Amino acid sequence: MKDYRLRLPGPTSVPERVRQAIARPVLSHRGPEFTEILRRSEEMLQPVLGTRNRVFFFASSGTGMMEAALVNVLAAGERVLISTHGQFGDRFVAIAGALGARVDTLDIPWGLAPTASQVEERVRSVDYRAVVVVHNESSTGVVADLAAIGAVLRERNALLVVDSVSGLGGVEMRQDEWGVDIVASASQKALMCPPGVGVISMSDKAWETVNRDDRLPRFYWDFRKARAAVEKPETPFTTPVSLMAGLHEALEMIHEEGLPHVLARHQTVSRALRAGCAALGLASYPKAEKISSTVVCLNVPENLNGKDIVGRLKERYGTVIAGSRNKLEGRVIRIGTMGCVSAGDILTDLAHLEATLRELGWAVAPGAGMAAAAALLQEESYAR
Ligand SMILES: *Cc1c(COP(=O)(O)O)cnc(C)c1O
Repeated sequence: MKDYRLRLPGPTSVPERVRQAIARPVLSHRGPEFTEILRRSEEMLQPVLGTRNRVFFFASSGTGMMEAALVNVLAAGERVLISTHGQFGDRFVAIAGALGARVDTLDIPWGLAPTASQVEERVRSVDYRAVVVVHNESSTGVVADLAAIGAVLRERNALLVVDSVSGLGGVEMRQDEWGVDIVASASQKALMCPPGVGVISMSDKAWETVNRDDRLPRFYWDFRKARAAVEKPETPFTTPVSLMAGLHEALEMIHEEGLPHVLARHQTVSRALRAGCAALGLASYPKAEKISSTVVCLNVPENLNGKDIVGRLKERYGTVIAGSRNKLEGRVIRIGTMGCVSAGDILTDLAHLEATLRELGWAVAPGAGMAAAAALLQEESYAR
């Protein structure tokens, strides 16, 4: 596995320190050693979320947290508005539909983000239980303006439910200030852990709804159980204790580096990678104002196929990036810039990408991508 470079927009490669933490002996999930890990993880995650809410951990991937959020908020037949500005918005539509909710979509062209005025127009005419927005759309590389959307919903009944699975820890989140009622996230993206831990944080406004007995049927996902347990502090069922030890270590690393620096590093590295890719002839896909700093989405030149680029990068160079598993298949490729990503990582990406493109018959000046990225890295005086 020496030459295996995991460069996906999740799961992401996990730092050695985190892997060591996960490898420690398994702890009792109700013992004092683990309780301390749980307590400290919550304490360290709160500033990353920008919240004073309690934080809940589940054995789950991100999709489980998306479903859990809806199960706790909705009752059968209740109305929910979902922004579909990418693949994960579509997934929310599928989940809400499966749960028997009455779903309306805010159809946004992919590559753009929903605006506050678009949301306002819709919530003015319908009393929705919830408005669902993906913070960082990993399929398109777009970041939604949650501050503006939150301001629209703050004085209304509708709850703002947000998926920040691929944002949290890499893109700024200020849950309390922005009025985000539920944040759903997971361990395997910018939080630098393997997949397996889901995260939920909820506002008091959300609790008023979640505490009602007339919500959708729920047991494992029942946030009321999580709340009762967190007082001890515990989780209602067995937490993946080893993964939690890893998450605890990852959060220590984030705070040692300093959250502002972590967010700035994601910005710099993603910008430099985009600049480098543009120099290679791969233009950035998103057209929105706010572009993701955790995933770089790139248009594939007309006469190339994204699948060939992804395949060859893996086969020849061990660099594992993502294509698209939706209507952009073959046309868009994606590289993760989340978690423990450095300038060295993206320069290597660009070296491998340049060689791959050349091998596929695409003419690029030698070193053009790396030079463009290096210029930007130097400009932002960031050399790691
Ligand atoms: C990765 C991701 C998810 C969760 O996917 P899982 O495979 O279930 O962990 C959800 N939303 C977004 C935006 C993501 O990037």
